[in-house]
Amino acid sequence: MAKKQFKTESKRLLDLMINSVYTNKEIFLRELISNASDALDKLHFKLLTDNSAASGGSLEIRIVPDKENRTLTIIDNGIGMTHDELETNLGTIAKSGTLAFRSAMQKKTEGEAEEADENAPAANELEVIGQFGVGFYSAFMVADKITVLSRAYGSDEANIWESTGLDGYTVSPAEKSDGCGTVITLHLKENGEDERFDRYLEDYTLKELIKKYSDYIRYPIKMMV
Ligand code: ADP
Repeated sequence: MAKKQFKTESKRLLDLMINSVYTNKEIFLRELISNASDALDKLHFKLLTDNSAASGGSLEIRIVPDKENRTLTIIDNGIGMTHDELETNLGTIAKSGTLAFRSAMQKKTEGEAEEADENAPAANELEVIGQFGVGFYSAFMVADKITVLSRAYGSDEANIWESTGLDGYTVSPAEKSDGCGTVITLHLKENGEDERFDRYLEDYTLKELIKKYSDYIRYPIKMMV
């Protein structure tokens, strides 16, 4: 399967995430939980107006740490994405948070252009990360491979989006028998000298983070252990 390339501006954000020296990397979980919650909202409203039979069970988010395979999986039974939506939504920066982030970055860069040291690290950029929802790509701060298995509401087909970062992504047909929704699997990066990515697989850490980042989430978040 041929790899597709990310759009230029997505690539830049992705690069920023992959090489991030930002200490607050844990916000990736906030972003993924918030996306899952949005997907559940969309399905919720669709079901209200559609008058159709409910999807596969009550709307919820599940988080599954797998120490053996060093993966963290975030599952929702929300609206899901079609093949085209996987490409459009995850291959380009389209949305609010990310755009606001990019334009704030631009302003900051322009404002500081005069005294800026060309070779300085992208520290300014990283300061801004915390203030905006930078979305799905923030998961590349902690993962070196991400798969997104998704089945859209009303469709029998599922697809899997897969990327190891800057070199692009693939979308291929896949199986998902338990109804619509999205399964995002993060293959966590190897631990570095002062960074342990496998801490995101620890029950205690995950529980703390879920508590911290689920304030406005009105769906149950279940941690599967
Ligand atoms: P934002 O959340 O600001 O829109 P993201 O990069 O986080 O930006 O996500 C891009 C888009 O991908 C979302 O707007 C949404 O359409 C889609 N998406 C992301 N995660 C999910 C999910 N779990 N279920 C359905 N769609 C999703």
